[in-house]
Amino acid sequence: MEAEPTRILLDSGKIASRVRELAEEINDTYLGEPLTIVGVLDGCLIFLADLVRRLRMPMELVLVRVKTYLDADTPQKKPVIPPDDLARVAGGRVLVVDDIYDTGATLAALKLELLRVGAIDVKLCVLLEKDAPHKHEATLDFRGFAIPDVFVVGYGLDYAGRYRNLPHIAELEQSANL
Ligand code: 5GP
Ligand code: MG
Repeated sequence: MEAEPTRILLDSGKIASRVRELAEEINDTYLGEPLTIVGVLDGCLIFLADLVRRLRMPMELVLVRVKTYLDADTPQKKPVIPPDDLARVAGGRVLVVDDIYDTGATLAALKLELLRVGAIDVKLCVLLEKDAPHKHEATLDFRGFAIPDVFVVGYGLDYAGRYRNLPHIAELEQSANL
């Protein structure tokens, strides 16, 4: 079996214009108040880079990872905030930026952790929201696109480490390699 990105769901022009609109929604929400942007590695990178260059408030950037542990049957999400960056989060307004919302487990766990370490307000921004049965309640504040429940790659999203550099977002289909 081999997987190749096939159907293009969102081309680069469509992504760029939606990212511009999202940036304006965020500018209109924070009205120049200082903000800490928390990007979720690795998938956020391309989206984050395009988005933050259009934001106009004073900001600091923090990059975090959310690790998944298989604990009994239920995967547990453990956010890792670099200790040196905790002061950027504590007492601040935070906007989390991630690539995709699938079950919501990643963003739900991260939001809780950011509040636990002292953020006064945490809002969530994702480029893509999958039309999947959400298992966790993490309300999105900013969303680029709603997409069907398929596996996608490109514009930062990978499959086994590949395809992050594609300028568009495509569906990855499994195909029999005869
Ligand atoms: P959640 O915790 O919301 O279930 O999953 C979110 C994470 O799963 C995303 O940050 C991303 O890393 C990964 N993920 C979920 N769906 C996809 C997908 O369609 N393509 C890729 N490349 N990653 C996905
Ligand atoms: Mg991710």
